[in-house]
Amino acid sequence: MPPVDEWEEFPFDGDIRPRVLLPPVDREEPRQGEDGVDGRTCARPDDAFIWTSERWRLLPARPNGLPLVVLLEPRAHYAEPGDLPDDLAAECGVMLSQVEQAIRSIGDIGRVHVCRWGDGSEHLHWWFMARPARIPQLIGSFAAIWDDILPVTPDDAWQANLQAMVTALRPQLG
Ligand SMILES: [Zn+2]
Repeated sequence: MPPVDEWEEFPFDGDIRPRVLLPPVDREEPRQGEDGVDGRTCARPDDAFIWTSERWRLLPARPNGLPLVVLLEPRAHYAEPGDLPDDLAAECGVMLSQVEQAIRSIGDIGRVHVCRWGDGSEHLHWWFMARPARIPQLIGSFAAIWDDILPVTPDDAWQANLQAMVTALRPQLG
């Protein structure tokens, strides 16, 4: 075990140990919506999103412990950041910057973590995870774990945060 009990931001207490690492499998399982077939993201109607444009859509996560979590997705089906054509990749950079700034502007946000994992659904999606300000235990990548541990953000506060983010987004985006 690494000395996790000395890390202020480690979310757990008590006696835990790492799992045994199993040998590699022959091939990885396909991700949800592989090659754009039966993809939940491609099929999702615009009214499921908090903000849409011609080429981008912003999906709110279900309310959880962090004050706001949203996902940015290209409207068209691309799997990896490196698959984006150059013009869309350039626009993606502007979107990442603008969405981060809009979330940070809602107040009492210590940091907006901008993340891309992509092992679940194949359709490219960027996570924006806002952590509360001034709580040192919530810094860093464990914020994604704390999101599942902290009490769920009340729905009225969650909706207010979403609306504040949308209001702060530049209207000419995308
Ligand atoms: Zn898709």
